[in-house]
Amino acid sequence: DKQAHNKTLIEARLESIDQIVLVLANKGGVGKSTVAANLAAGLGARGFRVGMADADIHGPNQSRFFGFTGARIRVSERGLGTKDYADPAMAHDLRVGSLAFMLQDDETPVVWRDAYKHDFVHHLMGSFDWGPLDFLIVDMPPGTGNELITLADLLEGCNVSALLVTTPQAVAQMDSLKAARFCLERGMPVVGCVENMAGVTCPHCKGSFHIYPDAGLGEQLDRLGIPSIAKLPLDPALAAGSDDGKPLVLNPAIEPAVATAFAQVVDA
Ligand code: ADP
Repeated sequence: DKQAHNKTLIEARLESIDQIVLVLANKGGVGKSTVAANLAAGLGARGFRVGMADADIHGPNQSRFFGFTGARIRVSERGLGTKDYADPAMAHDLRVGSLAFMLQDDETPVVWRDAYKHDFVHHLMGSFDWGPLDFLIVDMPPGTGNELITLADLLEGCNVSALLVTTPQAVAQMDSLKAARFCLERGMPVVGCVENMAGVTCPHCKGSFHIYPDAGLGEQLDRLGIPSIAKLPLDPALAAGSDDGKPLVLNPAIEPAVATAFAQVVDA
């Protein structure tokens, strides 16, 4: 029947992907999508075959982060995509799958109940032309609800892990650690945590200071056995890179502290 047929299609698609990494934060605005985009671009720059699955249904920003604003879906025998991936003129040879490519325009809000979200997550994994990949990075929406549960069910038995992103404040930590606990309860290893917006350097005097109070993230992570991978400072170039559609990690003029943090994330 149709359901069984769809299941086989998804399984076949997932079989050609070596590793799936869910990037999650639970809370919005902490830089999860930014870290996901730079992780994907950083892995790509090291020669890995990488895909970016944007599971953020209500705020699908990955198309923008990779300069695909306005791109629309193309259907081929191999599945859904936005471009001919063999085209060497593409800035990033990275496969991006996003709901953004399927919407009529970029302004209309997506107003969906759970059943639609469940179906979209299945399409994201099973209908896009991921091709053989070393890594599929999944940009998760905030929350430990429908999208995360659906993916956890769908990816059972796959080589899947989670990367946690948070900011130093207690509110962000508390939320992010809930997402980590969800993963651990589901038997999904959490490879580590990126502490984003951890400090900022004054462009005038070059002194650094912290905007957010440090709420003891290290101890919380230790308790859960999650390694702290990197501390990423606030950097205006990072914000500009997102808007310009080019992950900062590919920019040779990147701040050394930011470059180091991203290298640590890619290494992990
Ligand atoms: P989330 O996915 O957690 O909602 P985003 O990655 O979309 O968050 O980041 C929110 C905004 O903050 C984006 O405009 C992004 O460019 C910016 N941003 C994220 N991290 C940093 C940083 N370390 N320095 C400067 N801007 C950042």
